[in-house]
This record gives sequence, C-alpha cells and structure tokens, in this order.
Amino acid sequence: ASSAKYLTGDGTAIKEFLDKFDTFLFDCDGVLWSGDHVFDGVPETLLLLRSKGKRIVFVTNNSTKTRQDYVEKLAGMGIEAGADDVFGSSYSAAVYIARILQLPPGKDKVFVIGEAGVERELAAEGVPFLGGTDPAFRRDITPADFAGLADGSLLDPAVGAVLCGLDFHVNYLKLAHGLHYLRRGARFLATNTDSTLPMHRDLFLGAGSCSAPLVGAVGEQPLSLGKPSQAMMDAVEGKFRLDRARTCMVGDRLNTDIKFGVDGKLGGTLHVLTGVNSKADWEAENAVAVPSFYADKLSDLRDCE
Ligand code: PLP
Ligand code: CA
Repeated sequence: ASSAKYLTGDGTAIKEFLDKFDTFLFDCDGVLWSGDHVFDGVPETLLLLRSKGKRIVFVTNNSTKTRQDYVEKLAGMGIEAGADDVFGSSYSAAVYIARILQLPPGKDKVFVIGEAGVERELAAEGVPFLGGTDPAFRRDITPADFAGLADGSLLDPAVGAVLCGLDFHVNYLKLAHGLHYLRRGARFLATNTDSTLPMHRDLFLGAGSCSAPLVGAVGEQPLSLGKPSQAMMDAVEGKFRLDRARTCMVGDRLNTDIKFGVDGKLGGTLHVLTGVNSKADWEAENAVAVPSFYADKLSDLRDCE
C-alpha cells in the first residue's frame, strides 16, 4: 500500500508539493512539538509557508485546552497565531452543539465529562452545561446517589446531551450521571475518541478511554467532533471556506490525522515521522490510512529552494 511520496533533500519535489496546496491543516502534538518541546526549525518552516501565501490552520484533538490556550502555547514556541487560526476538538464540539445540533429549549444543557477547555468553549458559544470540573462531582458515589440516579431525582431534566472529552478526574459518579442521561435519551457526543494520549515518549489514556465505559454501558458510539470525524472536517470547511482539493492535512497519527484528510478527500496528506506512527504502520497490509506524502520531519520542507 506504500504509495506515499518521500519529501526529502530534493528541492524540486518539495516545491511541487507546496505548489499543490493553498491551505495546510496542521496537527500540533507530534508535528510541531512534543509536549512542551518545539521541534527544531518548525517556527521558521511555518514562516516560510506563510511567506509563500499559504494559509495555516492548527487542528488539534486536545480537548483540555481552548483555542486561546493554544494561541498562548504557540506564541511560547515562537509561532504567531490568532484564535481564529486554531480549531480544537472542544471548540468543534461547542460549535456543533450551538449551531448544528441546536437542542430544543428546556433540553439544551450539556452534561460534561471533561476538563476546563471543554467548559470554556461551551460557555463562549452560550451553551449551558453541568458536570465537568465542578468539585461536586469529584467524590465517591454513595447509596443515595444510586437511588437518586435510578429514580431521576438527581438528574437535571434540561440535559439534552452528554459530551465526553479527556477528563483527568473521571470517576464512577460522573460516568453514572452520563449513563443515566443517555438512558433518558440525551445525545451522546465526544470531543474526540483517541484511545491513547502520547506523553513522555509513552502512551497514556486518551479521551476515547474516558468515553469507553459509557460506550460499553449503552452499546452505542458517540458522535465524535474531533479528527478523524468528518463532522469536524465539515465544520473546518464551513469556517475556513476550504477548497478541499487545494488543502493538505499534516499529521503524525494515521488513525486521526491521515484518516481525517483521506476520508475528507483533501488534495493531500503529509505524514511526518516525529510522532506516534512510523512509516511501517502505513506500509502494513491492514493500514488504517495511507498518506500521499511523508517526510522525516516538518522542517525538511524548508529545503524547497
Ligand atoms: N488530547 C490531549 C489531552 C492532548 O494533550 C493531546 C496532545 O497534546 C492530544 C489529544 C492530541 O493532540 P493533537 O491532535 O494535537 O495531536
Ligand atoms: Ca498529533
């Protein structure tokens, strides 16, 4: 299945690659940086792309942060961006709920399993919510909770959706609330469903591992608003008026970034080998997605002259 073109050393191939696209969608972690360490030459590479008139959008599945948090993180790494240049999965979910799902009045609250990034993007879109970081949900479940959840007396009748992101304080009490809202007909949404989260050159539990207990309990998958979900691609397209044929998705992960671009029928996808997946992963027989281009690292694109 290895049809990806290798972008290296040869300036002509890189120039041809750049000429194909007007817009680059950049995954962040694993492409621009790893954790808090920006990769060498990345700010300069982005400046070079911008100097060639390319539009750059940062598309991240990290739901724990807001777009503004990303602006600050990018600035700290020497990359200039505004909130409108960032599209995160918590923003994607908030926009979807506020503008597309449009829950009916009286049923328009969202029960959140997630961190402050989700809450702040919901608030910015005017979506009422409960759960999330509220300390009232950070405790052990009691016999009274079981009874109140079963008879509904502990449930807010205005909840029309359950939204799951990565929650570092996920617990039985929150999951039980989520389950009982879902059993009463709430829509099941997720900021993203990455099973794992890369940190410290290892893997931890991702947002998908926080929604997994509910998936098991209700036997239904959430609608994901993060990569590779095409609900996110549609939202990105709507916001940035993308010409998909002239857009390239750049990422380190096959089952989120590259699948996102391939399923979205973008003009191209670029796999950089500085993150989660290796070349062998898309060369394998059962690869989840195969990129159209690959490079050892993003800064190799500077060799275009
Ligand atoms: N979710 C969380 C909480 C993260 O911290 C990260 C990476 O930092 C991700 C998801 C993956 O983000 P990205 O899509 O930028 O690789
Ligand atoms: Ca990534």
